[in-house]
Amino acid sequence: MATATLSIDLDAIAANWRALDRLTPSGVQTAAVVKADAYGLGTTRVVRALAQAGARRFFVAVAEEGAAVRQALGPGPQICILSGHMAGDTEMIHDLDLTPMLNSVDQVTRHVEALPGQPFGVQLDTGMNRLGMEEGEWEAVAPFVLEAGPELLMSHLACADAPDHPMNAAQLQAFHAMTDGTGVPRSLAATGGIFLGPRYQFDLTRPGIGLYGGHPFAQAHSVVTLSLPVIQTREVAMGEPVGYSNTWVADRPTIIATVSGGYADGLLRSLSGKATLWDGDTPCPLVGRVSMDLITVDIGHLPQVPRSLDILGPQQGVDQLATIGNTIGYEILTSLGNRYTRRFVERSAVDWAGGTTA
Ligand SMILES: *Cc1c(COP(=O)(O)O)cnc(C)c1O
Repeated sequence: MATATLSIDLDAIAANWRALDRLTPSGVQTAAVVKADAYGLGTTRVVRALAQAGARRFFVAVAEEGAAVRQALGPGPQICILSGHMAGDTEMIHDLDLTPMLNSVDQVTRHVEALPGQPFGVQLDTGMNRLGMEEGEWEAVAPFVLEAGPELLMSHLACADAPDHPMNAAQLQAFHAMTDGTGVPRSLAATGGIFLGPRYQFDLTRPGIGLYGGHPFAQAHSVVTLSLPVIQTREVAMGEPVGYSNTWVADRPTIIATVSGGYADGLLRSLSGKATLWDGDTPCPLVGRVSMDLITVDIGHLPQVPRSLDILGPQQGVDQLATIGNTIGYEILTSLGNRYTRRFVERSAVDWAGGTTA
C-alpha cells in the first residue's frame, strides 16, 4: 500500500510525562495538555497511555475535545476546557463532568447560573492578551468568583521558551499580584515554564509539547516516526529536471525515488528542495518541489532501493523539520494528516489504528 505510516511511541510519551513530573516537587501536580487531537497524534490512545503513566488531569481547547477524552478514559480523571464555558456547552460540561477554565465575567455568570456547584477554574491574563480576565476585570469580580469556589487559578506565559525574556518575570509578578492570598491552587507553567524553575511551577504544571518530544524539552524521548513508502524510482541523466516548475536539475546521473506523502499530509511545501529524508542512518536529500501527495528524493548514493524513507524519526525530529520548513514543532505535529496509518507502539506490542494487533 502507498499509505504512509506514522508510528507513535506511547511508551515514549509516558516516559516524557514521568520525566516532566519528576522536574517538579511531589506536591506539584503534573497535568497533560491534549488539545488538537493530542497535538495531532490521536486523543484516545495518547490519553490512555498518559493516564496509565499517572496523569490525573487533562487540558483541551474546546468542550468537544473534552468529550473525546472522557469517552477514552471514563469517569475519574479531571478534564479542563481552556476556552471556558461557551453558550451551548452547558449540557456537555454537566453530563461529561468537564471543568471549564472561565475567561470572562460573562462566562462566570453563565457557569454559576446554569451549573451551580459544577467545578470550574479561572483563567487570568497576565500580559499575553489572548485569553482570561485582565487585572481590572478580575479585581472587580474576584470576591464574587472566589466565593463560588474555583478549584484552580491559571495563566499562560507568552515567552517561556526564551528563559531570559523579561516578559517571564513580568507575568510572574502579575500572576502573584492577582492570586496571592486567595488560597486557591494555581498554575502558570506549560512545558517552557517548567524549565524556568520552581518559582514558576506553583501547584500544577500543564505540559503539552514536551510530552510529544518537542522543544524546549531537550531530553525528551523521540515520539514520532513518519515513513513514506517508495512508490517508484527512475534514473535521471545529468541536466534532467525533477518536479513542478523544474526547480531541481540533476548535475550528474542519479536515481530519484518518488515517495508517498505531500503537503496535503502536512509535509509543508516550504520544505521543497531543503529537507532530508533518511534510509536508516543515511541522509537522502529531498529534491524539487513538495507536491500534494508526493515527494521526490535523490537516492543515487544508496546501495539498494529502500521500501520507504523516513522524514520524521530519531534522525530528524519535529523541531528539526520545523526549522527547515520555517515553522515550529507544534505546527509540524498538528498538521500531520489524516491519510497516514497511525501505528501505536506500546511495551513491545504494536497496535494498528484499525484495532488488530501485529
Ligand atoms: C497549549 C497550552 C499549554 C501547553 O503548552 P506547551 O507549550 O505545548 O507545553 C498549556 N496551557 C495553555 C493555556 C495552552 O494553551
